[in-house]
Amino acid sequence: MEIEVEDVESFPIGIDRDEVFRISTGSSLTAENVLVRIKSKTEDGWGNSSANSVTDESVESILKAVKVMSSNMKDERIDVEKNWQDMREKLPDDPAALAGVDIALYDLAGKLSGKRVYEIINGVNEGILTDRTIGLMTESETREHAREFMRRGFKAIKIKIGMGLMEDIRRIKAVREEGGPDLDIWVDANQAFTPEESITLCQRIADLNVKFVEQPVDVDDIAGLKKVTEETDMPIMADETVKGPKMAEKICTEEIADMINIKLAKCGGITGGRKIVDVMERYGVDGMVGCMGETSVSIGAGAHLFNSTSKLKFADLDSHFMLSDNIASGLDFECGKLWISDDPGLGMRIHEDKVKKYLMDLEGEL
Ligand SMILES: [Mg+2]
Repeated sequence: MEIEVEDVESFPIGIDRDEVFRISTGSSLTAENVLVRIKSKTEDGWGNSSANSVTDESVESILKAVKVMSSNMKDERIDVEKNWQDMREKLPDDPAALAGVDIALYDLAGKLSGKRVYEIINGVNEGILTDRTIGLMTESETREHAREFMRRGFKAIKIKIGMGLMEDIRRIKAVREEGGPDLDIWVDANQAFTPEESITLCQRIADLNVKFVEQPVDVDDIAGLKKVTEETDMPIMADETVKGPKMAEKICTEEIADMINIKLAKCGGITGGRKIVDVMERYGVDGMVGCMGETSVSIGAGAHLFNSTSKLKFADLDSHFMLSDNIASGLDFECGKLWISDDPGLGMRIHEDKVKKYLMDLEGEL
């Protein structure tokens, strides 16, 4: 897949969420992203790099990395896969920046060839059931949020935990009470517990029909993650621990976790995501597509990836719902599902007036 690139531009934007989003590792009101626009003679492709603490990338580091990447691309004929390999080697610590570039190249490749991104990666276009995530909050607030999200049509709820074992268990119980037996409940600890605490948690919520518990232990505690996976019947999903295909392979061969959460910002975009999907398909391991604090541009990219394989069973593609404004259209939510538009590329239409409105003023910081 080769593309004639003319220019690469970056737009750092900050959009406030409707409320502060709190997880066990920190909290934030404003979602900071860098939109990447890659131009050919006739079309523009758009991508989204997400500033985040998991890969330790800021808006500033992303802008610098995209600048380095673009110097290799301007006025060149680019092979998307080879470009990804080269950039990954050159800038191994900037996967979220690479994700923005890679997603934009896929969008552009689709527009130039008249294909949807899911078609390029051998996928289909189907509605995708996504959850809504409830951050760390009190039991009664958790209950209210669950009620509100179900009222809006969500059929799955992910509960962030890390308030303390007993309180977290009460919060999960409260959501099950609110949701009745049919609500899908997922749990994400964001590394909050020791392996022993994690095992206790899984035992105590065993009768609440929770589909999985994500990243219960520290990102680097591989032995602890394996211990929790071995000693409980609860499906355990690795998130922060897996940032690329190498670790995904280790998770699969050594049975460290039951499932893997792919996020485009962790693994360098659609190309990186496809490499993890390849590993999952090879070992028969299921997983999820997740997100950071991204806009609908990379949520759309995640949706295309989701629809490219049967190994992705869950979609946690909800960060754009939390934002006070949507900078792109083309991804609809109906009947509890996300629907990709059938336009070429990602099928997204960027509202450039909104991109301008949320541009961050970084003068003097770069
Ligand atoms: Mg997670």
